[in-house]
Amino acid sequence: MARETQDNAGLRRADSTRTAKLVGNLTTTGLRAARAWSSRREQPEAWREVSRMHGAFLSLLPPGSGPTTPSDMIKALHRPMRQWVPLTWGDLPDELGSFTILGEDGLLTGDAIEYGSDYSEALFENHGAGIDWVPRWAQQTFEKVERSIYTVLSSAGQEEYVATRQMLIEVPAGTAEFVSDALHERGALHTEAYEPLPPDRRFVVGRDSWYVPCPVCSWPMHVQGAELACRYPQHSGLFKVTDEVDDTGAPRVRGPRPVRALSAAEVVCVHEAVWRYITIPGVTEVELMTWLAEQPGIGTDAVTKWPHKDRWDITVRAGADIFEIDLKDTRSPSQVAARPPRARHVVVPDYRAWQVAQLRRSLPPGQYEVRTVRAFKTAVRNALKEGR
Ligand SMILES: [Zn+2]
Repeated sequence: MARETQDNAGLRRADSTRTAKLVGNLTTTGLRAARAWSSRREQPEAWREVSRMHGAFLSLLPPGSGPTTPSDMIKALHRPMRQWVPLTWGDLPDELGSFTILGEDGLLTGDAIEYGSDYSEALFENHGAGIDWVPRWAQQTFEKVERSIYTVLSSAGQEEYVATRQMLIEVPAGTAEFVSDALHERGALHTEAYEPLPPDRRFVVGRDSWYVPCPVCSWPMHVQGAELACRYPQHSGLFKVTDEVDDTGAPRVRGPRPVRALSAAEVVCVHEAVWRYITIPGVTEVELMTWLAEQPGIGTDAVTKWPHKDRWDITVRAGADIFEIDLKDTRSPSQVAARPPRARHVVVPDYRAWQVAQLRRSLPPGQYEVRTVRAFKTAVRNALKEGR
């Protein structure tokens, strides 16, 4: 009897692993369809992609259980999959199928963007080895930029790697001249990461065109009418262009944090793929690197950035201790558990504190210490005190 129960439990687990994989494939297909849909005005071939994705979506489900036409599928993507895909959702982690892919504005939602960002590691770790793991939609959409940056980073020496990566994090936008100067000053390598500022990230007042960097990541905020917002959901906040003018003659923009409108003339910014995969996680990485280097008793020399070209994110010597740190800024903790980090200290941004307990449960026992950035800083301060 006990034996039978165990077998049943095993079967159920195998079943739910299969279903989780299926949900992953459905989500990826949905994302790719949504992406094509949102660019259908500029790219006529997007329609073909939408109907191809509809076919792919149906092939993953039992006959008759998916959306009947491509436009039914697009309509459905405005609701979480849990509400319209007939699966046994009960056994799956809450994070699966619980978000909306297409927003009311016809663009990918912040949640969908975050889901896509979770594949970042496959791109920039494992140089070459992990690429198959990246969903096709990301590969195709970002292929050219990715390939360029990927090639440059794989051929770089450690110092150039750090300079190039840090530049893409700290200078996600600026005039072409400014970006080119920064590249030389930092000793960063030339990549195809930058493109002219796209029209959806600028606005016109009078005869001039303007953009506003996000107060967190400095990437130009998305513009809709007179409203601006960063496309990353964790950098939340809605900003409004006013009729006033600031002391530089630029239109004043008001919102939850002080920001400035800058002239859009000659401005370039990093491609969306670079922003998602390098700039966004990099903001937390660089902030922690800077904090560590500033601690009395540590200093710049004791902080190694992206050692071995990003086998993990930071190595730091604090007192008698050496900390090897991997920062994990992803929406789904189960993705981290699926590919266990190479460093002992797993650190998540404070806004993902809820993931700590789940990661401690799901990572191999005894090998990891999981903390938020805030708790990790406390651990470093304690190590410094003891080392004195
Ligand atoms: Zn931002």
